[in-house]
Amino acid sequence: MKITRITTHLLHHELEAPFQSSFSTFRARRHCLVEIECDTGLVGWGECLGPADINAAVVASMTPMLIGRNPLDIEPIWMELYNQFRDQGQRGPIHTGLSGIDIALWDIAGKHFDAPIYKLMGGAWRTEIPAYATGGFRPEGGDHASTCATEMAQYVGEGFGAVKIKIGYGIESDLKTISAVRDAIGPDVELMIDANHGYDAIDAIEVGRRAAKYGIEWFEEPVVPEALRAYQQVCANQPIPVAGGETWHGRWAVDEALAQKTVHILQPDVCGIGGLSEARKIITLADVHHVRIVPHVWGTAVALAAGLHFHAILPPTPQTHEARSPRLEFDRTYNPFRQEIVDHPIEHHNGVVSVPEGPGLGISINRDALQAYSPA
Ligand code: CA
Repeated sequence: MKITRITTHLLHHELEAPFQSSFSTFRARRHCLVEIECDTGLVGWGECLGPADINAAVVASMTPMLIGRNPLDIEPIWMELYNQFRDQGQRGPIHTGLSGIDIALWDIAGKHFDAPIYKLMGGAWRTEIPAYATGGFRPEGGDHASTCATEMAQYVGEGFGAVKIKIGYGIESDLKTISAVRDAIGPDVELMIDANHGYDAIDAIEVGRRAAKYGIEWFEEPVVPEALRAYQQVCANQPIPVAGGETWHGRWAVDEALAQKTVHILQPDVCGIGGLSEARKIITLADVHHVRIVPHVWGTAVALAAGLHFHAILPPTPQTHEARSPRLEFDRTYNPFRQEIVDHPIEHHNGVVSVPEGPGLGISINRDALQAYSPA
């Protein structure tokens, strides 16, 4: 079997209602999918986290090294590509581009061996994943506390046992929002806060100290991802467990961050960390450093499916009768690519999502929908 063609698909959709994280305003959803075709007719799909056009350029740069290769040589291909681009690519788009290629190769392998990816990667610890609802962005020009509380109560009504809201819009505003959300969801639903690195260490420590009384499961990306010493300060000086790592790329970056005791919870994203091959290595690293993994998931149905296979192979740490399952991050903000580009959308049932059972990623792409969202 040989790789014959690689195509990137740039999906684009303008949002009717723009929303804001601490530092950016989302006016459109834009994602880069990778399609790899083989001479046997098998096709694999992958997705890259982050700027779609840059990712497409990275994949195009790697394509000549892939044509004619056996797609089942996944590990050698990963290292050859990384080695070729390492000098300027130890972090960033080389990893996100490589992630989309690696996921597509695993999809092909699964279809070739007629098995879901998680079975090829050593088997599942679980195939039903309890999810948490991600949302609670600030609407452009809206009142965050009231919109966020209403939105979270709706997710709880749909069956979610955990929700994550966005903060990073100013200390007093954030505390008002957190308090309103806790009132709206009641005492038993897990609540996480994500600042999208909207604070420096001084303010993050104040937010953590004052928010702790609302029962916060974790405090995500309190400070910018490259400021590892600021992460250390936040960990050491406020009581909420600190989470982060969605933009740390590859095993070396993660090892550096974990060795410096920056987070209690590591959040690798399979579409950014270097794909499923690298995600498997990160599992071992986190185990050695005794840090809990709760993966980051953000993107289309392809990213969601790849994330579910990653969840399936995450070992319980520690393994006990009552072992905790990592929660799936299930983005609830409007994104037509989560449902419309696949024939059978991945949905939650009472806050639980099943890992796809079909071969490979276990999804089938709807090419008409793909075409409709890919501007010429
Ligand atoms: Ca996040």
